Amino acid sequence: MKASTLRIGHRYRPARLAAGYDAIVIGSGMGGLTTAALLSKLDWKVCVLEQHYTAGGYTHSYERNGYEWDVGVHYIGDVGTRTRTRRMFDFLTDGKLEWAPMDEEYDRFYVGDKIFNARAGKQEFRDNLVHQFPDEGKAIDAYMEMLSQVSGALSTFGMGRALKPWQRSLAAPYLKWKTPDFMFRKTYDVLSELTDNQDLIAVICGQWGDMGLPPKQSAFMVHAMIARHYLYGGFYPVGGSWKIADYIIPKIQKAGGEVFTYARVKGILIADGKVSGVEMEDGHQIDCACVVSSAGVENTFNRLLAGSVVASHGYAAAMNNVRPSIGHLGVYIGLQGTAEELGLPKTNFWIYPTNDYDGALERFLRDKDAPFPVVYISFPSAKDPDYLNRHPGTATIEIVAPAPYEWFEKWGGTTWGKRGDGYDDFKEGLTDRLMEQLYDKLPQLRGRVDYCELSTPLSTEWFSAYGRGELYGLDHTPERLQQEWLTPRTRIPGLWLTGQDVLTCGVTGAMMAGMLTTMAMVGVRKMTPVMKEIYG
Ligand SMILES: Cc1cc2nc3c(=O)[nH]c(=O)nc-3n(C[C@H](O)[C@H](O)[C@H](O)COP(=O)(O)OP(=O)(O)OC[C@H]3O[C@@H](n4cnc5c(N)ncnc54)[C@H](O)[C@@H]3O)c2cc1C
Repeated sequence: MKASTLRIGHRYRPARLAAGYDAIVIGSGMGGLTTAALLSKLDWKVCVLEQHYTAGGYTHSYERNGYEWDVGVHYIGDVGTRTRTRRMFDFLTDGKLEWAPMDEEYDRFYVGDKIFNARAGKQEFRDNLVHQFPDEGKAIDAYMEMLSQVSGALSTFGMGRALKPWQRSLAAPYLKWKTPDFMFRKTYDVLSELTDNQDLIAVICGQWGDMGLPPKQSAFMVHAMIARHYLYGGFYPVGGSWKIADYIIPKIQKAGGEVFTYARVKGILIADGKVSGVEMEDGHQIDCACVVSSAGVENTFNRLLAGSVVASHGYAAAMNNVRPSIGHLGVYIGLQGTAEELGLPKTNFWIYPTNDYDGALERFLRDKDAPFPVVYISFPSAKDPDYLNRHPGTATIEIVAPAPYEWFEKWGGTTWGKRGDGYDDFKEGLTDRLMEQLYDKLPQLRGRVDYCELSTPLSTEWFSAYGRGELYGLDHTPERLQQEWLTPRTRIPGLWLTGQDVLTCGVTGAMMAGMLTTMAMVGVRKMTPVMKEIYG
């Protein structure tokens, strides 16, 4: 097995640190890098510390045996025209990152024995839904209207997060007025008031895997955010998802900062009630009065801060209101032959055993032999027009399915690649089941697979430092989204939060969290010229 060579960032050594950083950022995912790049634009010298061997967090890619896979980016929406999302990506990557559109049919849903799809374009999406459900035009139009209303409400929600507590109290009536009641209700409850057609609800919720919670548990706000995000289709970063971080890092270096890899932070240091720096796993301490944690709320409050500090600021109690999202399995597949030769589409497949998504998940969590509640299949080499320049004559496929951390817990603490036969056998059984799902949809691939490996929640813990192998940080329940303390500003002076737990999961969610965190840190006045440069 040839190891991965695709590594970006600068390897950490205490001697390589500069003196006098203006801020330390823990974690080099999209949230951390966005914050660091925006601060760098304002001439802050920022030190980004990443525990993994490469930078990018869930946007990193890895290579093995001549193939390359992304680990947490399968498609991104809202970047086909000069949208706010696209402008932010352009700014962060100096316009270097290009986007390749997926097929017009970007998502295909196999629900039991029926097949539905999502089409790119607001009108096309609506018309296509009506075409698939001719008796449901009224419900579909009401749903589309709700998506439009959510647009403004999402911006209000985001801005509310950047306010100081007293400002938020003052703005509370306005924030409430701008927030439709359905935002914080369960997705299924909202949709079942529009229609009782369970297939239609299933198709509308066909992307529930993009946030990790099925419709009877998830907040409608996040459902709507994802649906809107992909309304104009899916796009893939040309050159692979690792290019995102690769293009951002020079912006941080230009202002004297650096992105260090193999740099695991052991703890956030507090002196006289304020942040005073971080302690690295090797014992080295880096002094800095400003620390931004993009390592996730679970890591920040349950692992990086002393228990007494967490309790005294009320975070121990607050953490009871949120919970980590479910873990996942990832099958990384390499094939000889190009995507075109093998007939691989630029469409994601979502495979469901039934239109009762919640019931299927419940059964699976009770019984691991029950059908997978959702199997997602992505074809990255087909989506990336540059893939064949890097890996000629080959193709890749990825399969993702949920799996709870508890199933793997007994192997916790063992070393990656050396977890023993029991673990390998368990993985083999899961891999076979997931591969059968692929062959069922694309039988021409049987016998064409050259390389295949399975990641589990323990791999996520090992490489991405999510302690319960969680897929999307905190679960996107209505309760989580109403936690007033989940904001960039913490109650501990000098400590800031960013990344997917501050707003929502998704590369864009983490990026926008980075923007809000920077805004909260430096204030609107200093941010205004930067925002003007980004948005014109
Ligand atoms: C399988 C999968 C598929 C996905 N598909 C998509 C998709 O198609 N489109 C999309 O938009 N989103 C997708 N997502 C979600 C998206 O990738 C994430 O929501 C987003 O990238 C999270 O960014 P972040 O910066 O908040 O966190 P992360 O990217 O997780 O970054 C956090 C970083 O902190 C580091 N860290 C943690 N603890 C420490 C420590 N003590 N010291 C130093 N470093 C530390 C971690 O190593 C990690 O690199 C997917 C996620 C997964 C897992």
